[in-house]
Amino acid sequence: MDTTIPTYPLYLISPLRMEVDGEGVTTLVTSYGCPLKCAWCINEQAKICREEIKRITVEELYDRVKAHNLYYLATGGGLTFGGGEPLLQCDFLECFFQTYQTGWKYNLETSLAVPWENVEKLIPYIDYYIVDCKSMNASTYQAYTGCSGQLMRENLQLLLKRVGTDKIKVRIPFIPQYHTREEQEKSKEMLLAMGLTNIECFSYVLREFHKKNMDKPADME
Ligand code: SF4
Repeated sequence: MDTTIPTYPLYLISPLRMEVDGEGVTTLVTSYGCPLKCAWCINEQAKICREEIKRITVEELYDRVKAHNLYYLATGGGLTFGGGEPLLQCDFLECFFQTYQTGWKYNLETSLAVPWENVEKLIPYIDYYIVDCKSMNASTYQAYTGCSGQLMRENLQLLLKRVGTDKIKVRIPFIPQYHTREEQEKSKEMLLAMGLTNIECFSYVLREFHKKNMDKPADME
């Protein structure tokens, strides 16, 4: 494969989703690779982007999602890119959006924990952002993800300024062992104070994997 052509480390393609991660009928396209190390990550295998992972070209991606073109157009749907962290693949996505004038909607599920340049590059193409902010509390964010939340908070502020609140939904999970309901509520208040209006609080559903690891300190994950 020509290494100058951007390729995408494909994790999975999940078609025909209805109003789950964007308007209308969507296909979720996820990638390997994530800058965070969330303790209760449900996409364990998606965190790391290894050499041997299958990488696809923009043409291959288009071929795999175009079968539902009529559903996307009829319902105002399209593609939702998730992860891992899709903004690590911004060169590939820019190339895809420039190559195909589809009329589809493009949604992004992101932690925004990437350099601002990655976010900015895709602003002309993205219709809707679903931002997983984890927590607005700096120490909780650090303990849960192993990374500083400053980048996410700065990027969220910049993104809000550039695209407006109607294009952004922020999700705040209740994270067992890492914060309280009061802290989840406090994060919501901070986001509202920033000018964001679409905020969804939800609870992580702990699976068997998580329950077995409940007693492990975060730095052992
Ligand atoms: S942002 Fe998502 S994929 Fe990345 S480590 Fe956290 S839960 Fe896992």
